[in-house]
Amino acid sequence: MELNDLKTLVSKVIHEIDRHEQEVTTTAHGVFLDMNDAIEAADKAQKELVKLTLERRQKIIQAIRNVSRGNAELFSKMAVEESGMGRIDDKIIKNKMAADYTPGIEDLKSDSFTGDNGLTVVELSPYGVIGSITPTTNPTETVICNAIGMIAAGNAVVFSPHPRAKNTSLKAIQLLNEAIVAAGGPANLITTVNDPTIQQADVLMNHKKIRMIVATGGPGLVKAALSTGKKAIGAGAGNPPAVVDETADIEKAAKDIIDGCSFDNNLPCTSEKEVIVVESVADYLIFSMKKQAVYTIEDKQELRKLEELIMVDGKPNREFVGKDAAYILNQIGIQCDKEVRAIIMETDADHPFVQEELMMPVLPIVRVSSFDAAVDLAVEVEHGFRHTAIMHSKNVDHLTKFARAIQTTIFVKNGPSYAGIGAGGEGYSTFTIAGPTGEGLTSAKDFARTRRCVLVDGLFIR
Ligand code: NAD
Repeated sequence: MELNDLKTLVSKVIHEIDRHEQEVTTTAHGVFLDMNDAIEAADKAQKELVKLTLERRQKIIQAIRNVSRGNAELFSKMAVEESGMGRIDDKIIKNKMAADYTPGIEDLKSDSFTGDNGLTVVELSPYGVIGSITPTTNPTETVICNAIGMIAAGNAVVFSPHPRAKNTSLKAIQLLNEAIVAAGGPANLITTVNDPTIQQADVLMNHKKIRMIVATGGPGLVKAALSTGKKAIGAGAGNPPAVVDETADIEKAAKDIIDGCSFDNNLPCTSEKEVIVVESVADYLIFSMKKQAVYTIEDKQELRKLEELIMVDGKPNREFVGKDAAYILNQIGIQCDKEVRAIIMETDADHPFVQEELMMPVLPIVRVSSFDAAVDLAVEVEHGFRHTAIMHSKNVDHLTKFARAIQTTIFVKNGPSYAGIGAGGEGYSTFTIAGPTGEGLTSAKDFARTRRCVLVDGLFIR
């Protein structure tokens, strides 16, 4: 063998050893090479979990909260770096919300019937192993929130994260697993594969040991999950309209809308995606919005350039999803202050910025002649997703009428959209909002089965 050939061979062998070592390190703490192995390991862990006391389960949940809160900054930085989407500061808030405000074991309420025939208790018990498919927009938030809720209900979870947020999601899964074991829980209570893809998600969803599927993402994913014939929770897309009527506190409405729409660069499925305002207050609303950190597009040429940049064949260009407003503006030759958080413009109702779920800090404003016209248009552009709507008004009749017409899972009145998931509004947090299957803002109780246990002629003490 020639010396050069030998050198090539040696370098190939060294490369193979390196690759193998890397794979071995990435398969630690819940991360497997093969989806079937990830499911089998989770199944084994779930059987261990249910042998432990509820007190121990509570300690495990607390450990997940602690490690998630402690690494919120790391997760947020990694997510922005890897996915190229969102804002680190906002993601830190979202990760901390998931860590602190996702309900735990306390969410599982037992029920009872007593009478002449004895005592019957109804308890919430685990499904077993749940398959959770998570989005790129809230990668670690969804892992944290689903892990807390699903484990609180006594399940193990196998995650299939979005490939574009793979390393970030794997890091969270590994750290959470380490914390679970340190708190006295079984290894591999949450698992995944080191190379998640849509094909792997398919294997997960169709595996016989997966008793429930929780799908958080766009319409394609929800449809795939609901087609498996298994118990599935579908948390799908939205296109939340923000309606402003003539009775609203316009200056506050302007601030709340920009705060909500620009939060994490509009990635949350709950964020304001278009504004519909009645004519009589439209000018004042836009005037008040301009006092916020926005850039206003008024020039038709500029609008055309923006449309060409961020839309492809009438659909949002993924390349600009979750990008900073300043970055988007720079691409069309507009230099602006880095502090600009959103780009606003007036458009017609049928403009693609209004009709499509952009998930960019680009906010179209449509003026309409009356409140009734606002309701009709908002219902139309929400496209029947029944996800989230926002309204700014002091008229109780108007608020009631819109809420009844739009039928969304979340309806935020006089606040930014994120108040609907517990940031500045009452109620717990979740990052899996199940409109299509009706669970709403999911929590531990939704990841549990209702079981009845009947004792005949006994323990009746009334
Ligand atoms: P996405 O649908 O592209 O991906 C979500 C996950 O599903 C990923 O892990 C992906 O790999 C997987 N996936 C996609 N299509 C699949 C298929 N056909 N079969 C199997 N797996 C599939 O969504 P995204 O871009 O990551 O997230 C944004 C979308 O999710 C938006 O539409 C947003 O509104 C929605 N979302 C909804 C909620 C909610 O709680 N309702 C929360 C976050 C995001």
